[in-house]
Amino acid sequence: MLDTLHRIVKEVNAASDLEQALGIIVTQVRRAVDADVCSVYLTDFERRDHVLMATEGLLPEAVGKVRLPYHRGLIGLVCERAEPVNLADAPSHSRYLFIHETGERHYTGFLGVPIIQNRRVLGVLVVRQIERRSFADGEVTFLFTLAARLAGAITHAQASGNLITRSDLSPPKRFFQGRPGSSGVALGTVVVVYPPADLEAVPDRPAQDPAREEEDFRTAVAAVVQDLMAIQDRLEASLPAEDRALFDAWLMMLDSDSLIGNTVKRIYAGNWASGALRETIEGHAKVFDAMEDSYLCERASDVRDLGRRILMHLQQKVTSPGEYPENTVLVGDEVSAMQLAEVPRGCLAGVVSASGAGFSHVAILARAMEVPAVMGLSNLPVNRMDGRFVILDGYLGRVYVSPAPSVLEEYRRLANEDRELYRELEADKDLPCETTDGVRVPLYLNTGLISELSTHGAEQSEGVGLYRTELPFMVRDSFPGESVQVMNYRRVLETFYPRPVTIRTLDIGGDKPLPYFPVVESNPFLGWRGIRISLDHPEIFLTQVRAILRATVGLNNLRLLLPMVSHVQEVDDALLLIQRAHDELIEEGHEVSMPRIGVMIEVPAAVYQVDVLSRRIDFLSVGTNDLTQYLLAVDRNNSYVADIYDDLHPAVLRALIQIVNGAKVFQKEVGVCGEMAGDPAAAVLLLGMGVDSLSMNGGSLLRVKWVIRSISRSRARELLQAALRCERASEIKALLGNALEEMGLGGLMRAGR
Ligand code: PEP
Ligand code: MG
Repeated sequence: MLDTLHRIVKEVNAASDLEQALGIIVTQVRRAVDADVCSVYLTDFERRDHVLMATEGLLPEAVGKVRLPYHRGLIGLVCERAEPVNLADAPSHSRYLFIHETGERHYTGFLGVPIIQNRRVLGVLVVRQIERRSFADGEVTFLFTLAARLAGAITHAQASGNLITRSDLSPPKRFFQGRPGSSGVALGTVVVVYPPADLEAVPDRPAQDPAREEEDFRTAVAAVVQDLMAIQDRLEASLPAEDRALFDAWLMMLDSDSLIGNTVKRIYAGNWASGALRETIEGHAKVFDAMEDSYLCERASDVRDLGRRILMHLQQKVTSPGEYPENTVLVGDEVSAMQLAEVPRGCLAGVVSASGAGFSHVAILARAMEVPAVMGLSNLPVNRMDGRFVILDGYLGRVYVSPAPSVLEEYRRLANEDRELYRELEADKDLPCETTDGVRVPLYLNTGLISELSTHGAEQSEGVGLYRTELPFMVRDSFPGESVQVMNYRRVLETFYPRPVTIRTLDIGGDKPLPYFPVVESNPFLGWRGIRISLDHPEIFLTQVRAILRATVGLNNLRLLLPMVSHVQEVDDALLLIQRAHDELIEEGHEVSMPRIGVMIEVPAAVYQVDVLSRRIDFLSVGTNDLTQYLLAVDRNNSYVADIYDDLHPAVLRALIQIVNGAKVFQKEVGVCGEMAGDPAAAVLLLGMGVDSLSMNGGSLLRVKWVIRSISRSRARELLQAALRCERASEIKALLGNALEEMGLGGLMRAGR
């Protein structure tokens, strides 16, 4: 059964639309369990009924027409219970309904299993039998497992189909639902970005000059032929002739009409060479995939491998989109910070990443650049979206593809409202950030890209609370040398002088890998990250610290911050290295001075050692993004668990209070530099706790200032006490929402992250 299951899932995943996917399911399942009928009903949430979407055994004309209202019949029962219903004699059940329009005969055996995704019952997979039949346990679990595996594929195919035909369920679902990444509304044209040599990720794109595309394609194929022949020659001595024959088979494929002719045909039908190649290879591989024989089945991976090799050569000509239209909406399966940074600033309207969540670094970067972003849309048919007009709703996490005029009008209105709110906020621009009872709360900027320095946040902040140094490392081909780094840091320190600038040492690893320093780990967020890498590679750390110290000569507005600290030994070792870098520079004649040094509190272990850490350093900076991730054991990048990642979780609030109170004992300053600091509602609680400063992206500065200027510290303390009585993050959110609403700041809730 396991083989059958894998085969069906594979075929369904490769289906081009919903109809094809469901057709495969009903045919294959009926055969696998030897039933008389197999059907799929899908839930239409708007019309509140279940529609017969595919059948093998009932009347084909009934498909799309037969609709069973919620709670009617056995299909309704499966949905209500959200578990399998297995009946040897279905007609004797009180919920049995005879549906004449399906051409139904008196089927007796019935097994229905729910298709569930994200706790929602999307439909029912049902098999029927004329004679009495109680389906065996193995058959129930087979259908059950299959339905669980298929839920994602069904929604994917449904979404892709909607995009192309808009004819599936009615009324058509017009937007793709993801998660808010960065607030705001964007209207623009999609540019799909994808990693190199990833054939499946290649988008369809119009062929501007088909003859040229054909030539590029043929050149790439010729290059692969050369490569293979060279390998074959090299292996002549070490590989027996029968194994080398495999190369002949590949070379034959590269000369075949099915590969060359079909791709060229697709180019002249309008797709560019890479897109045409992807279509051909997929079609070809699918034929092998469907074969029962496992040897032939394996040939599918050979075909895909050849496709990737050709693509690699094609991509030596085209690596990135090259030109970005005005109002570019960058879309990808996994948009990287680097791809974001590549788009000229004025062109970027928004970002959509099919994977990731609101606390992924790419979302943080989008917020820093003040462009709306939507994350984690697992159903998005990314490679069919290039060139499409979309609306991106960063508040609700929605993407509308080729939207209807009424939707467009509504969003234009919303974008105007945003501009209006922003004008109101700007009125406070030059006023100090202090509460109504006179408590000053310095607001600092989180930054890390040179281009961010031109944002308005730079003028309004009281300095930089977090300069993430990894981004400049990520957009290079190798580690930057000391003098390049000095220039980088000097520019930030000078821009903000005399205001303080907190530079954090390298925090690579996790979701910030360096292309030239790959680390393969199964749990990157629990692995070699931040200070751990720096201490294991003192040459990298020392170069960076020397550059940072040199950059501040004559300015002395530097504060140095160490990320991901989980053991005091790391602080001791880092302090020694910093001292060493300082002494070396003095010896070399540089007039450097020791900066104030702080640690990030972002790992639960550090929360419980705030006392010993405080004895060693000058200040603490709380990284709530990681602290939340590690306290709740929720990967900040994983869209499956994004719903339970919440920095207003009562446990996070308690940890924060412990940090603030612990640091106060040693009179050490505590700031918050995670995304929580930029959330106007959460900022109220941080104020109530007695946090000394907040550091955030430029887009949040004025919003947070507005709320702080509207509230007293004592009211913030009251709200904190009320929040601490709540058991759930949702209650805390509601509490803060009401409080802001009462203060006439309701608009900030929508405009928050
Ligand atoms: C944090 O973890 O809150 C933080 C500010 O660091 P980063 O987001 O860069 O991991
Ligand atoms: Mg962090």
